[in-house]
Amino acid sequence: MLDFDTAQDRLIQAAVRPTRSERIPVAQALGRVVATNILATIAIPPADNSAMDGYAIRLADFESGKGLPIQQRCYAGDVPEALKTGHAIRLFTGSLMPAGADTVVMQENCTEDNDVVFIQSTPTLHDHVRVKGEDMSQGKTIILKGKPLNSGHIAMLASQGVTEVDVYPMPKIGILTTGDELAQPGQPLKEGQIYNSNAPMLSAMVQQLNAHVHLSLHAKDTLEDIQQALTTLCQECDLVLTVGGVSVGDKDLVKPAIEALGGEMNLWKVRMKPGKPVALAHIGDTPVVGLPGNPVSSFAVFSLMVSPMIRVLQGRRHAMPRVFYGTLECSQTFKGSREEFIRVQARADANGSVALTPHEQQGSAIISSLAWATGLARIPANTEIKNGDVVAYYDLRHWAH
Ligand code: AMP
Ligand code: MG
Repeated sequence: MLDFDTAQDRLIQAAVRPTRSERIPVAQALGRVVATNILATIAIPPADNSAMDGYAIRLADFESGKGLPIQQRCYAGDVPEALKTGHAIRLFTGSLMPAGADTVVMQENCTEDNDVVFIQSTPTLHDHVRVKGEDMSQGKTIILKGKPLNSGHIAMLASQGVTEVDVYPMPKIGILTTGDELAQPGQPLKEGQIYNSNAPMLSAMVQQLNAHVHLSLHAKDTLEDIQQALTTLCQECDLVLTVGGVSVGDKDLVKPAIEALGGEMNLWKVRMKPGKPVALAHIGDTPVVGLPGNPVSSFAVFSLMVSPMIRVLQGRRHAMPRVFYGTLECSQTFKGSREEFIRVQARADANGSVALTPHEQQGSAIISSLAWATGLARIPANTEIKNGDVVAYYDLRHWAH
C-alpha cells in the first residue's frame, strides 16, 4: 500500500511541463496560462492625475480664508496649462495634474464664487494625487510566467494597450469509461444498467480547470474494446484518464489492455478512502491514470491527485493549491486504517473560523453528496477524529479550479 501523499507526488512527477506556446487575443485569454513574464511597457497611470473632482493647487499658496482665482477648467482627457502662482485649476477625476500643482482639494471641501475658489479645510501635500507609475511602473514584471489569467490580469493587459498574449496550449485530456452495465444518458435504461455519470462529471471537472476535453470514449468490458479506445486516446491526448475496471474483478481489464499496448502499469493500492485503486501507466509518452469507477472515488482522486497533474501540463506555477484547516462539526466519530477524505460543507462560524459539516452519507456511490460538498476534509489514518477536532480542508474552490 502507498500512502496518499506519495501517490499524489508520483502522479505530479509523471506530468510534463509544456514547452510550446501560442499567441492568442487577450479577449480569449481568460483562464489561460501565460508562457512568458509580462513586463509593463508603459507606466500606469501614464502621468500624475487627480483622484477626485476638485481643484489643483500649489500647497504653498494655501492660506486659510484666502480665495484662489480659477485659472482654467480642465476635464479628463484635456491637457492643462502650467499652474500660475496663487491660482487654482478646476479639475475632475482623471484630469492630468498641471505642472506646478502638487495637491488636489476635493470639491466637497470648497466653495466657488465668481471664478474664485475658497478652501474650507486645511489640505495636506499630495492629497488626492495619483502618481505616475504608482500602479505599474514601466519595465516592471506585472504578470509572472505560469499564472492563469483572471479578469484582473485581463484588465492589466488592456491597461497596457496589449491585444495579444503568449499562453501555453491547453492540454488535451482523453477520458475512457468502461463497463457493460453503463448506458449513456439519452438512451433507455435496461434492467441492470445505470447511466454513465463519470464521463460527464470528469469532462466537467477538466473544463473547470480550463483544460480541453479532446475525446471521451466508452468501452465495453472486453480487452479489444478497451485496447482500441486506448490506442486512439493515447495518440491524440496529453493525458488519458480511464475510469473503472482497475480492481481485481474478472472484468477488470484495463491493466491487461495497457500491458498489451506495451505500457507498464503501476497499480497502487493507495491508503486512502474513497479511491483505493489508483493506476499510473505510460503508453508511448502519454501518461494514463486509472481512476476507480465509483463516482465519489473518481471525483476525489481527480480533485486531489489528477488536478495537480493537469496544472503541471498547463504550465501553471502552482500545481498544488493551498490546504486550509477547519473544525469538524459532527455527532459521529471517524477512525479508519486509511486516510479518509469526507465530503463536507464549510461555513464560517461565529469566531470567524471554518466549521466543517460532513455529509450524512459518506458511501462512495453517493453522487448527490458531490453537488452538496464545498470540499473534502482529511481524516488521518488510525486516529480518532470527532466533533471539535481540527482537520485539513481541501476547498474545491481551489482544488477544482
Ligand atoms: P469498477 O471499478 O468498474 O468495478 O466500478 C466500480 C463501481 O463504479 C461499479 O458500481 C460501477 O458500476 C461504477 N461505475 C464505473 N464506471 C462508472 C461510470 N462511468 N459512471 C457511473 N458509475 C460507474
Ligand atoms: Mg467495471
